[in-house]
Amino acid sequence: MNTWWSYLQKKPSERAKCCNMIKIALDCHHLNACKARYEYGISDRCVYCNGGRETIEHVLFECRSNTETRENYWKKFEDECSIGLKNSLKVMSNVDKTNLLISGLGNTFTQEWIALYEKIVEFVHNLYIERVKLNASNINNE
Ligand SMILES: [Zn+2]
Repeated sequence: MNTWWSYLQKKPSERAKCCNMIKIALDCHHLNACKARYEYGISDRCVYCNGGRETIEHVLFECRSNTETRENYWKKFEDECSIGLKNSLKVMSNVDKTNLLISGLGNTFTQEWIALYEKIVEFVHNLYIERVKLNASNINNE
């Protein structure tokens, strides 16, 4: 079972956040890289930097427009990591880091990691929602 379903059973109040984690894990979300596949006339590019496609790894680790939010929540996540995990993350590519986080550290729910899951959800969800809201406000202002 997906880690986020198990996590949701332990933390029912995190329902909306878990739903977004699952959508992201299924690569079915509200970022341009996904929307461009289904909506005519939508570009898959990030409009806030010249960094390329607006994918989940772009928003989580690459985009220069949300550095402050990233650093804030990444620090909270790292504070919860073991030294081993922290060191592994340092040498991983952005795609590998994204996959590890989105899979809930490997698709198997581990009760002892619940505080870590909480920080992962906080990191991913806050960056994701901030971007979705920013995109929505830009569309409304056009
Ligand atoms: Zn960007």
